[in-house]
Amino acid sequence: MLAVGGASYSAQAAAEKVFTAKQGEVLYLTLIAEGNPASVQGRFHNRSIPFFKTGRTDEFGALVGIDMADEPAPVGLKAAITYPDGRQERLYRVVVQAEKFRVQSMTLPKEQVEPDADALKRINREQERVKAVLAGLTPERLWAAGFLVPVEGTVTGAFGSKRILNGQTRNQHSGEDIAAPLGAPVKAANDGIVRLMDDQFFSGISVILDHGLGLFTMYFHLDSATVKEGARVKRGDVIGTVGHSGRATGPHLHWAAWLNGSRVNPFSLAKLAFSSPTTKTEP
Ligand SMILES: [Zn+2]
Repeated sequence: MLAVGGASYSAQAAAEKVFTAKQGEVLYLTLIAEGNPASVQGRFHNRSIPFFKTGRTDEFGALVGIDMADEPAPVGLKAAITYPDGRQERLYRVVVQAEKFRVQSMTLPKEQVEPDADALKRINREQERVKAVLAGLTPERLWAAGFLVPVEGTVTGAFGSKRILNGQTRNQHSGEDIAAPLGAPVKAANDGIVRLMDDQFFSGISVILDHGLGLFTMYFHLDSATVKEGARVKRGDVIGTVGHSGRATGPHLHWAAWLNGSRVNPFSLAKLAFSSPTTKTEP
């Protein structure tokens, strides 16, 4: 049995299910593995895809991230089901489709686009910290209900956009920007642990939440953060307020998600429906 949220799928040969997903999307896969396996572990590109027990009999689920820069092509996804006395494999195919990302030209103060040597040192240090946080793996799923959108506002559609800053081509924008009033409350998209609370050159006052099994959500350019590193948060808890700290042209929340090595659109996460019995219902 296979189900999917956030993207369409079609069954081909019984042995191999085929999914289609766009760059930056998240797929929710489930499979049935009887006989109480010790582990179910997937592989997609070079990324490990940890499966978790959904709470339904013999059902395991996993979130699979399509990185915004993954090449549009069919890619194999292998799930290894390990028993004390043996191993089974299931093969799937994900047809990655190109997303049309926008090109955004912006003009910013020169020192924000061409940081001086001291600022570059600071930026490198900060990026190393973020990398270390995202490399951490909490081996359990910390959430149960679906993901919520952290702030009410205007979604600008900036995810994946190719940016030209002061005439220079920059990296694709790896989050979505939600324009909202200064001071508007920002909520945790789901249950998790605060892994980073920092004031960084580009991202300003920043919070990164760890939801377990390689999934993180990030909240940048805050005016204030009201959580401490190591703290547990619940879905919907206020973690800070909307601001324009760091490199930002106006008050907005930069909301991003990182899933086992892939940069995915957080709105793709929020669209997923989880129907397992362990899932809490919306109030
Ligand atoms: Zn942004």
